[in-house]
Amino acid sequence: MLAYFTGIDILEKERIKRLQSLLENKEQRVVIVAHTNPDGDAIGSSLGFYGYLQQKGFSKVDVIAPNKYASFLHWMPGNNDVRIATDDPENTLKIIAQADMIICLDFNGFGRAEQLEKPLLESTAFKVMIDHHPDPENGFDLVLSDTSVSSTAELVYRCITDMGDEALITKEIAECLYAGIVTDTGSFSFACNNPATYEVVARLIEKGVDGAYLHRLIYSTYTENRMRLLGYSLSEKLQVIPEAQTAFISLTKKDLERFHHNEGDTEGLVNYALDIRDIRLAALFMEKEDHVKVSLRSVGKLDVNRLARNYYQGGGHVNAAGGKSFLTMNDTLEAFIALVKKGFE
Ligand code: 5GP
Ligand code: MN
Repeated sequence: MLAYFTGIDILEKERIKRLQSLLENKEQRVVIVAHTNPDGDAIGSSLGFYGYLQQKGFSKVDVIAPNKYASFLHWMPGNNDVRIATDDPENTLKIIAQADMIICLDFNGFGRAEQLEKPLLESTAFKVMIDHHPDPENGFDLVLSDTSVSSTAELVYRCITDMGDEALITKEIAECLYAGIVTDTGSFSFACNNPATYEVVARLIEKGVDGAYLHRLIYSTYTENRMRLLGYSLSEKLQVIPEAQTAFISLTKKDLERFHHNEGDTEGLVNYALDIRDIRLAALFMEKEDHVKVSLRSVGKLDVNRLARNYYQGGGHVNAAGGKSFLTMNDTLEAFIALVKKGFE
């Protein structure tokens, strides 16, 4: 048994039991949904749970991502089965409408699935949330939410284990869950000071995960364009406001086009701004079709979840959050600079 493993206390036994009994009917149509712009934890936990349901004997399971995601996540076992909603909107809606159970992983409000929000709300399926973001929203039939875990992937491991199914976790499932933990902790550099996380990781390695190999698949597969975009962003597009202990990067559509930007190419970029000495708040602004995507990171108690909620119609965690601005890029940056200079807390 895991010495630090306190999942049953944290998650409440009844909820796990409820999930366990709900998963007894293997004939039901299950739909697993990840959030928009899915990251390593969203895809890792979704494909980990997908593999688990397959091991359990489910045959009618679909995995839906609202939109495309980074190619450094495409190696994950089960990736080819993921349906990208924007590629096939009609079938996606049909699948959601016909589902008996919908499992939402790594998000806690239907709005995070953007264009799928309404179909998800309207579906009569039993709706389960498994997530680690603060302030879960209403509308789910069963909520397994724990903000103390490193990642949803870690929580999925705990759920499976609490349901007595640890033996069903294959190497492939373990690889997906490991990827979720690694990416959501920045390779074990934040949100990972709980010994229990490392026990879960130890078990995943016992299942056959090769950490160094997966690390290369996730972090060392830059295209030349992506690497040059990183260099350009840091040398030309980084601005530092020392008096506000803030640094930010802004990328216009033109910048992104110049480097033939693909999904995921800017993943992790915002963290570089936070690596500057004395910087406590970092931001990345990216110009999209009809908005500016905002990524926020902080150290310590500085709460970017609140910043994202109050100013950018978004959310996230205390130290990592995101949202959108509907002003122009210039106005967005001007407002941000004014905000951090005056102090928004
Ligand atoms: P990122 O900056 O990498 O896109 O996201 C960082 C964190 O903020 C993630 O935990 C993600 O779930 C959350 N996040 C990003 N964008 C949004 C958004 O538009 N709305 C909400 N609620 N959360 C977001
Ligand atoms: Mn996560």
